[in-house]
Amino acid sequence: MIFEDLKAFAERLDRAYFIDNEYKQYADYDQPLPIGYEQTISQPSLVFQMTYILSPEKGSRVLEIGTGSGYQTALLAEFSGEVYTIERISALAEKAKKRLLGLGYTNISFMTGDGSLGWEEHAPYDRIMVTAAAAELPQELLRQLAAGGRMVIPVGPRGCQELMLVEKDINGEIFTRIIEEVVFVELKGKYGWSYWNK
Ligand code: SAH
Repeated sequence: MIFEDLKAFAERLDRAYFIDNEYKQYADYDQPLPIGYEQTISQPSLVFQMTYILSPEKGSRVLEIGTGSGYQTALLAEFSGEVYTIERISALAEKAKKRLLGLGYTNISFMTGDGSLGWEEHAPYDRIMVTAAAAELPQELLRQLAAGGRMVIPVGPRGCQELMLVEKDINGEIFTRIIEEVVFVELKGKYGWSYWNK
């Protein structure tokens, strides 16, 4: 992925298009904003950074967990081959789908459901982007990551997590690197928070 291409696209993409509440007027601020249902759209600089770290290629098959507003999905769809995106809140999923189809993307498959389980049908994935915080690395997602693949995921307790870059080498060995501290809403579902906090 070429930094300048991503930068040019991110500057062109209107974040206000992905917000449909009273916070729309703040779309240009580099701040997370509420998108309803107790969920948030991340600040653009973080979405940019996570996309650049994930570094999808033109032919990449990408799994995204937490479609939310669809803003991050647009960046992924622009710079990869196929995007499979999962959102558990159907109202958010439907709105995001409408927006992304409205932008003309034909390489995105949408699912409403529990993304902590991944999306077995289309696995393995070259890239996995998780935009909700997991308590631990979800084993099921690691399994669905292709050899030579990368995953970007916030991991840690509620309120403060570490953004991690996870790489699976061609032998299937896992390497992790901490990028920085972040705050995301929690990843729910079977292998989300409840699994680790029973
Ligand atoms: N990437 C989004 C940010 C979404 S916030 C954007 O650019 O707008 C995180 C999203 O993850 C929320 O919409 C939340 O509903 C969703 N989420 C949390 N747990 C999930 C799960 N297990 N499966 C699918 N989506 C989940």
